[in-house]
Amino acid sequence: MYFEENLKLLISSRHLFIYILSSEEDRLEYTITKILDKYNIGNIYYWNFIDGYNSNPNYINRAKRDPLAALELVETIDSSTPKFFLFKDFHLFINDTSIIRKMKNLHKKLKNSNSYIFIIASEMKIPTMLKSIVTLIEFSLPSFEEILIELKRLFSLLNINSNISIERMALAYKGMSIELIRRSIAKIVSLNRISPQIFRLIAEEKKQYIRQTHILDFCSVNYTLNDIGGLFYLKQWLKKRSYAFTKQAQNYGLPAPKGILLVGIQGTGKSLSAKVIAKQWNLPLFRLDVGKIFGGVVGESEKNIREIIKLSEELEPCVLWIDEIDKVFSRLTNNIDSGTTNRVLSTLLIWLSEKNNQVFVVATANNVLCLPPEILRKGRFDEIFFLDLPNFRERNKIFQIHLMKFRPLTWKKYNLNSFSELTDSFSGAEIKQAIVEAMYNAFYEKRDFNNNDIINAINDTVPLAFTDNTTISSMQNWAKMGKVRLASK
Ligand code: ADP
Repeated sequence: MYFEENLKLLISSRHLFIYILSSEEDRLEYTITKILDKYNIGNIYYWNFIDGYNSNPNYINRAKRDPLAALELVETIDSSTPKFFLFKDFHLFINDTSIIRKMKNLHKKLKNSNSYIFIIASEMKIPTMLKSIVTLIEFSLPSFEEILIELKRLFSLLNINSNISIERMALAYKGMSIELIRRSIAKIVSLNRISPQIFRLIAEEKKQYIRQTHILDFCSVNYTLNDIGGLFYLKQWLKKRSYAFTKQAQNYGLPAPKGILLVGIQGTGKSLSAKVIAKQWNLPLFRLDVGKIFGGVVGESEKNIREIIKLSEELEPCVLWIDEIDKVFSRLTNNIDSGTTNRVLSTLLIWLSEKNNQVFVVATANNVLCLPPEILRKGRFDEIFFLDLPNFRERNKIFQIHLMKFRPLTWKKYNLNSFSELTDSFSGAEIKQAIVEAMYNAFYEKRDFNNNDIINAINDTVPLAFTDNTTISSMQNWAKMGKVRLASK
């Protein structure tokens, strides 16, 4: 819908060169034709490098393998009625000197004409010299409604009778192109697999697709709130918002939660919480490795962050997990290119504060003290939670959670109380590691692990908190001052 409005607006305000960014050539072509038909505005001429012009019989095969000739032809065609020229893959030629010059000349000539050139490109490659005369618009991936229509069409075309919810399928396919969706449905049909299992299959396909984009990782999650020991307030906050992304919440007028920042030393359960959130809210989880934003080429990083933002919006509703945000956006590191880092950070922060969509951001940081203050400012995140080291009761619970997983039948024979006494200053990850260590030792001796194995493993551990005490005590102070909120009771 936005695309249609934008395109109409650009045409009526006489933008002659329109650069349309899209990876879906067929759907774009179809959409443009439909829009122009709907408003009854003129003829369309298609050009591609191999066939030349190929839609109008008068010009068939003209300007074959010759992009310059394709442009030249535009000025010879009468433009008393509107004419639209669709050039496919033209981003491959647009940086050529003669094409740049030709386009500039043509722009002057076409000013009083009724001709428009649409450049259909899968990549953004507008040369600087043409920036003032070429207008960029993006043709986004299909919306939920568009996917729904396509699925209904395919279901009836392929005679698929199933009681699977098409709405749920449409939601699962969000973020994929129509072409990929068609292929996926064809595969599912050929496998005869229209059963509840298809959601796993769709998730798998989406994962492959996201992997190809290299920036976001799709994470499969299987943790629930019961896998977290402690963190009472955090869990309570999440529980209250369990239905925040549903239609009912929208109808109620509830604004979707924006996101949270989780801070705490390594191993306190930040990543675990990100995974639990996605599972609890029934949303897909995409992990962003911030390090990957920073490319080698000048301007690449800014482009990457914009792409990530766009991609996550196309994938909504979803959880976007920005892992170890302090690794890159740190005021203490001596950044070689702090200009770029600042620009990327401000793009991200502006997006966070103005965000009004169904992307829930979970950012995690090991060291809040080195984060630039603007990240912590109110309005970016709904809440900043500090995950402190677990207290006695929480350690007990964490031991229980992990022992129940490793020994579902015999976990009760272990002395959780004495383990918890001995593990003051241990993080959740260190507790789990102590159990794993005990298991290795006993396995080596070909027997089951016992209380003593765990106690020995605990005694052999030097908790990270011993070396990272300043960070913890500063964060505890911050919590007292109300700058961050305690995740645990
Ligand atoms: P962080 O992201 O804070 O460095 P993680 O979430 O990666 O820590 O923790 C690593 C592992 O330690 C988790 O996968 C989980 O097995 C265990 N763990 C950490 N905190 C908890 C907790 N509160 N309850 C249960 N397990 C925990």
